[in-house]
Amino acid sequence: MTFASRRPTVAIIGAGIGGLSAAIALHRAGLATRVFEQATDIGEVGAGLSLTPNAVKGLGWLGVRKAIETLADEPPQQITRHYESGEILVRFDRSDTVARYGAPYLQMHRADLHAVLLEHYREHCHGRVVTDRRLRSLQESGDAVTLEFEGGITAHASAVIGADGLKSVTRRVCFGDDAPRFAGFVAWRGLVPQARLAALDLSPGSAVFAGPGRLFVRYPVRHGALQNFVAFARVDTWAGESWSQTGDIAEPRAVLQGFHPEVHAILDAAPDGRCHKWGLFAREPLASWTRGGITLLGDAAHPMLPWFGQGAASAIEDAVVLGRCLLDSGTTAELGAAFARYERSRKARVGMLQRESAAGGERLVGMRPELLSNASIVNEDSLGIFAYDPVLDSLTN
Ligand SMILES: Cc1cc2nc3c(=O)[nH]c(=O)nc-3n(C[C@H](O)[C@H](O)[C@H](O)COP(=O)(O)OP(=O)(O)OC[C@H]3O[C@@H](n4cnc5c(N)ncnc54)[C@H](O)[C@@H]3O)c2cc1C
Repeated sequence: MTFASRRPTVAIIGAGIGGLSAAIALHRAGLATRVFEQATDIGEVGAGLSLTPNAVKGLGWLGVRKAIETLADEPPQQITRHYESGEILVRFDRSDTVARYGAPYLQMHRADLHAVLLEHYREHCHGRVVTDRRLRSLQESGDAVTLEFEGGITAHASAVIGADGLKSVTRRVCFGDDAPRFAGFVAWRGLVPQARLAALDLSPGSAVFAGPGRLFVRYPVRHGALQNFVAFARVDTWAGESWSQTGDIAEPRAVLQGFHPEVHAILDAAPDGRCHKWGLFAREPLASWTRGGITLLGDAAHPMLPWFGQGAASAIEDAVVLGRCLLDSGTTAELGAAFARYERSRKARVGMLQRESAAGGERLVGMRPELLSNASIVNEDSLGIFAYDPVLDSLTN
């Protein structure tokens, strides 16, 4: 299969948040794209997602900010509470986020974000996602790349963006085969209908219950119809075959023994007593993730632990910076130069996010919640994460 276009055509592997954002960004840069996704049905898991102002600025450049803002919630505050007593230890007022950072802090259903990106790509970019295409290998020769999918199917493209996630085949084939390493934490996630929590007097916005090596986070999505929760705990091993599976709510209830009654009331209300269960995996930073007309984006390039909620956000940032680098590219040779410039422009930012996210796990293990305060906390404000603007940040030459 060869793409029917005389313009350089870029194949994007993976229709996750990163791949679809990249596809939209490339369309804005005037390039023809095609997205290949291994799944038969394109979609996202049922869980909430934080979209920090740096990501929302990027969504504006992609042309979907309005649609996202309509669907998302804007937490007026974020509080951190003692895991046992519930005492408020830290309170961040988020009501002035737009004035401070130029965009809101949003929280929403992952599937809603994914659906907006997919619809925009299909409707406004006339883009096509080919499903049931699991990449097995790829080879570059001259100014073309040959993609080999499961089932013996092949395709050709001028260039390739591997947005195929933590276990990226593009990364393994082109940039080394180090395996993802279990980072010592499990996350249990779920969505509870608000109607089941009517008896609780939940504070507005998001709340974190913090204990040594354990965290419970909750925030509303779909304008309060659902309460999203994530429970994190330090564990020694990950026994699952896959890094993501469904779990029994009894597990987070057991590991969060001693946590405040509000936490247990939310867990007890989980539909069918089930939730999603994720092992948290990390990879060593790559020395380089671009070679000629092949580059990586999102988790494939720089997976990070979720302590600052920057995995999807940084994939969106990647897409915008890549699109800006490609704006002036017309030929395949220029694509390679633009890919290299994108990597140079993103290296310091994602390196910082990866390092700080890893350090966040260490801090959690040694945490003494009673010592937490607004002044001492290391967070997105103190690290300058929100202030970054993928649309305006200067590109590296
Ligand atoms: C517990 C937890 C909470 C999180 N919370 C947040 C948060 O609040 N905010 C935030 O910004 N981030 C958060 N993240 C991180 C975020 O989920 C990821 O960083 C983000 O989804 C990465 O997007 P991606 O498109 O790069 O990869 P993925 O979402 O993994 O998408 C990759 C896509 O590629 C496809 N694919 C894989 N292999 C192949 C192949 N060989 N051939 C074809 N297709 C393939 C997959 O099916 C998938 O559709 C969280 C992560 C976890 C674990």
